[in-house]
Amino acid sequence: MQEMECSLLRPPNTSATVEADMVRTVSAWRYRAPKHHYGQGMSERHHAVDQATLAVTAGRPPRTPDAPLNTPIVAASTFVAGGDIEYAREGGPTIAAFEELVAQLESVDLPTPAQAVAFSSGMGAADAILDLVPLGGRVIAPTTAYTGVAARLRELGDRGAIELDLVDISDTASVLSAIDQPAALLWLESPTNPLLERADLDAVLSAARTRGLRSVVDNTFATPILQRPLNSGADVVMHSATKALSGHSDLLMGALVTSDADLAESLRGRRTLLGATPSAFDAYLATRGIRTLPLRIERGQQTAALLAERLAAEPSISRVRHFGTMLTIEFGKDAQRADRVCNATRIWVHATSLGGVESSLERRRRWPLEAAHVPDDLVRLSVGIEAPEDLWRDLHEALQAT
Ligand code: PLP
Repeated sequence: MQEMECSLLRPPNTSATVEADMVRTVSAWRYRAPKHHYGQGMSERHHAVDQATLAVTAGRPPRTPDAPLNTPIVAASTFVAGGDIEYAREGGPTIAAFEELVAQLESVDLPTPAQAVAFSSGMGAADAILDLVPLGGRVIAPTTAYTGVAARLRELGDRGAIELDLVDISDTASVLSAIDQPAALLWLESPTNPLLERADLDAVLSAARTRGLRSVVDNTFATPILQRPLNSGADVVMHSATKALSGHSDLLMGALVTSDADLAESLRGRRTLLGATPSAFDAYLATRGIRTLPLRIERGQQTAALLAERLAAEPSISRVRHFGTMLTIEFGKDAQRADRVCNATRIWVHATSLGGVESSLERRRRWPLEAAHVPDDLVRLSVGIEAPEDLWRDLHEALQAT
């Protein structure tokens, strides 16, 4: 499909009445919330503060007397005509606060803040990017991408909407050679879900940039706390905000972040037309969740490192992989044992998804869509913020009991 400018979708500004203008002047933050109002002060001090500070301060309403500290949940499907946002499919003030926050975290090291576009799920965000690929355009993607994205790419490939070229993203030479042929999009996920494979982002993204090839990095597993692909030259960073960003397993959301203003506009246009706009309530919860992201990642990462070390010493575990707050373990090809362990824990929750405050685990191949190259006995663990020794004891007891 052709790229369509979002601005084409918008009506020309209508003139407001004097009365309406007075209302706006008195309570500007309440009725009119142009995107730039949120986090405006912090944008100016972009370089001066640490990412941990931005996590708390970005995306707040301006500090005017009586203003709330937190961006309110603006529950409105439509807005009084004449402003930046007319209809909630285009976004809204609560969503704009989330976008400001995510953009600041991903671009903390860049000279100017990036822009983020929020979606109703990670898959909605992925689809917006894929929708910008011209019909039949070649897309280079990981052989081991997240199963939902992989399925969508296959579907588009099978129906001829894209030409799909799968590469092992941990093999830099293969990626570089794939990039040498003309392509419309380089899709990276690093680390991958669930195999935790990593691309050499500096090498492949700078090569893509040199060739004028648009690149996307799914940064869901690393989060902007552990990795910021815009620094390495990515055009777009993608998130399933359902996971660690929001961090409480209580919503579905996605986000795209880019420093390219035209691309951000195109992605907003995709969101408006495809209809994958999040609700104000979810955006509020996600913003609230991100306030503690640095602390949650720090804690989860420390615990995951401790568990990785102890699990590697377990005789019945044949392989341990580890990145950030994520682990995978294998049980010497014994998938039934893997299932028994998942069902035997009492603190770890046997559930899909990841990145919540609660630790969870699951055998990935229980999902029919999961790729055949993921070992049948592989259990993915997402480490939360519970006491590390409680998590270890629970896991150890489950291992001994099964
Ligand atoms: N990308 C990765 C790495 C994921 O793990 C997921 C979901 O598990 C997605 C994208 C899709 O996100 P969502 O479930 O929010 O649509």
